[in-house]
Amino acid sequence: MENQFRESKEIICTACPMGCHTVVERENNTLLVRGARCPRGERYVKEEADDPRRIVATTIKIQNGNIRRLPVKTSRPFPRDQIRALVQAISPLEVSAPVKRGEIIKSNLFGENIDLVATRDVPLKDKKKITHY
Ligand code: SF4
Repeated sequence: MENQFRESKEIICTACPMGCHTVVERENNTLLVRGARCPRGERYVKEEADDPRRIVATTIKIQNGNIRRLPVKTSRPFPRDQIRALVQAISPLEVSAPVKRGEIIKSNLFGENIDLVATRDVPLKDKKKITHY
């Protein structure tokens, strides 16, 4: 008799506001999705079951800028099970103004070919007007 492996998991699709409740079943190496109303949702649910990823957004220190923390995010969704380690690795980073929106702060995070990028421009500090966040 063939050795069969089967598991199932409920996943709410968040690829659009409909929020379909789906069930994804893995039978050996094949994923079957029930409850998705469109191919986009089926793709989303399969990815979520196999390799869940999220965009990670945080802030890091910036010197000589008109704000004290630079908002940054990953250039693409990052593996969910490594996000805690990523945030710990990012937290000591420090840059100097000026910084341009989209500028790469750190490339190839954890060898995933995903970069950490700035999400806003930060010019050099104007000593007369300092904004604190
Ligand atoms: S399955 Fe399709 S319709 Fe349903 S939430 Fe996902 S993207 Fe939207």
